[in-house]
Amino acid sequence: MKILISNDDGYQAPGIVALHEALREVADVEVIAPEHNNSAKSNALTLAAPLYVHAAHNGFRYVTGTPADCVHIALKGLLDYRPDLVVSGINNGANMGDDTIYSGTVGAAMEAYLFGIPAIAFSQIEKGWAHVDAAAQVARRLVRQIERQNMLGGEAWLLNVNIPNLPLEQIKPVRVCRLGRRHAGERVIVQDNPRGEKMYWIAGAGGAKDSSEGTDFHATAAGHVALTPLQIDLTDHQRLPAWAEAVDRLGSTALDAP
Ligand code: MN
Repeated sequence: MKILISNDDGYQAPGIVALHEALREVADVEVIAPEHNNSAKSNALTLAAPLYVHAAHNGFRYVTGTPADCVHIALKGLLDYRPDLVVSGINNGANMGDDTIYSGTVGAAMEAYLFGIPAIAFSQIEKGWAHVDAAAQVARRLVRQIERQNMLGGEAWLLNVNIPNLPLEQIKPVRVCRLGRRHAGERVIVQDNPRGEKMYWIAGAGGAKDSSEGTDFHATAAGHVALTPLQIDLTDHQRLPAWAEAVDRLGSTALDAP
């Protein structure tokens, strides 16, 4: 099994170091990750500048770009093989509910999925890396289970996995969940810089709005590992008929309107 590892917190983050340590026990692993923290970069690709790849002393390679850049150039130019699996993380903090839209951790995994390779995004619920080695052991076990059940090599899939910051023996089994929802983000923080210019800081994500049973929020709050299979189709299938009717009613006048 050949695994490509990336993340969004940067190649020196404890989460990717722990993930690499755990997965090298069960697979041929390679790390290609961003040079700097690229959290909340989603699927961004760098188009207006070249990318540089450097080798770190520990064998990791780091890229002057985004998480999706890393996976993109790995799969389309850097690697001379096709990984069986791409894993991203372990992220410093939860990627639940709406977080998945912004997450660079999910973005790196999604880039692999878009190229037809199974991919998993791993995150710890709390920031600060408490029990990150336990989270890495959870990741290793899950990857092993997936390999044993021959779920690699067929159609690609994309998993989002959130792990509570607990000692290994206190982490409860995997629950398959839907994404919950968060409230909108908090108010931006406004400060003056030393030259008297206004600075605006994006503030924290909102709290859980839908954390009902069956969601990732609910499962992790009870100490479970939350596993959500993700898809990419953003079509609002439910509203397709209503919009088709509305457009019919408008007829050709829609494009004539002043
Ligand atoms: Mn991050």
